[in-house]
Amino acid sequence: MTDNNIPTLRLRRGKEESLDRLHPWVFSGALTEMPRDIEEGTVVRVAASDGRLIGVGHFQIGSIAVRMLDFADTAIDDAFFARRLAEAYALRRTLGLRRPDNTAFRLVHGEGDFLPGLVVDVYGDTAVVQAHSPGMHFVRDTIARALTELPGAGIANVYYKSETTLPYKARLDPQNDYIIGSYSGNVATENGLKFHIDWLRGQKTGFFVDQRDNRALLGRYSAGRRVLNMFCYTGGFSVYALAGGAKEVVSVDSSAKAVALTEANAELNFPGDTRHRAVAEDAFRHLDAMEHGAYDLIVLDPPAFAKHRSALHNALQGYRRLNARAFEKIAPGGVLFTFSCSQAVSREQFRVAVFSAAAQSRRRVRILHQLTQPADHPVSIYHPEGEYLKGLVLYVE
Ligand code: SAH
Repeated sequence: MTDNNIPTLRLRRGKEESLDRLHPWVFSGALTEMPRDIEEGTVVRVAASDGRLIGVGHFQIGSIAVRMLDFADTAIDDAFFARRLAEAYALRRTLGLRRPDNTAFRLVHGEGDFLPGLVVDVYGDTAVVQAHSPGMHFVRDTIARALTELPGAGIANVYYKSETTLPYKARLDPQNDYIIGSYSGNVATENGLKFHIDWLRGQKTGFFVDQRDNRALLGRYSAGRRVLNMFCYTGGFSVYALAGGAKEVVSVDSSAKAVALTEANAELNFPGDTRHRAVAEDAFRHLDAMEHGAYDLIVLDPPAFAKHRSALHNALQGYRRLNARAFEKIAPGGVLFTFSCSQAVSREQFRVAVFSAAAQSRRRVRILHQLTQPADHPVSIYHPEGEYLKGLVLYVE
């Protein structure tokens, strides 16, 4: 059924190509003109220069003008969001991520779940929702309701957390708050290990769900090792290292709040365990001061060094300098887990930065694993930009 109230934006000639390949973004330069009378977040139709309908999406002011919701004249109503969320949950069931011993997972990963601009992480019976586009901000109540109505998902509370993710200029004034339900405890389980998740004050949705598989892999390398978890945040890698039988685990983060969270999570799983200690210190300062050979398993999981393409050069230097310190100091036979979560840094660029750091140390280094984001952070094959997490596990002689 055609709804005549939906505005249609026309593309310039030849600009339909990427959309015909199902890429979900319309850049502002692709439009014949940037509409002035359409409110940000409105659902629009997109048509090729010859008038052929391409699909529907959320309009916004900025370099991405439309985030496509579907490549047909689909009605964007409550049923649409309920359907997409049900599909997203069906995938997580396929992945076996909702289990008594695993209650933390990503339910919606934006474009990877054909819901551009939306992120939903689930912690037990609470879903934390982040809108990255005005369109998703306006449908937050619909999404919250649909989440609590997902059969079998067991979501009772929905916390909306978009104060830092929405475009500042849109003046949407989002308030971080519960849309449905209220606080009902904040301990979630990941692969049988427990974590306090602080969605009220923590970064992102409170936890880095995306390192789940990589943390599990680290656990398998931990037995008998002295582990340094650099940039520990909530201590995910530290807890897995303790569970894996590490001899000693040192967690470092420049934020005192992160150090406190890490201590609380170590204590939650291994009360009174003296193998672990956490230190609030700058990464470079700690790496410079530590003794050669003090650790035989090191994790480097820094924040995104390049948030934008313009910062790429400095970011690559940063990765090289950081990794060089680890190669210089890690004990012989050591294992280095090193990551980049910068979307602007490609897998190849990251690898080159790590390789030049290794070469600087003149040590023999071999790649054991090449890591990425887990399956609950899927990448739409039509939107390769959705791949952001890169990691290498290296054996250093
Ligand atoms: N590895 C974590 C996620 C890391 S997030 C996990 O698995 O959950 C990045 C962390 O780096 C943040 O907690 C931030 O406080 C910390 N950080 C940022 N700059 C730092 C620096 N210069 N030195 C040490 N820690 C830093």
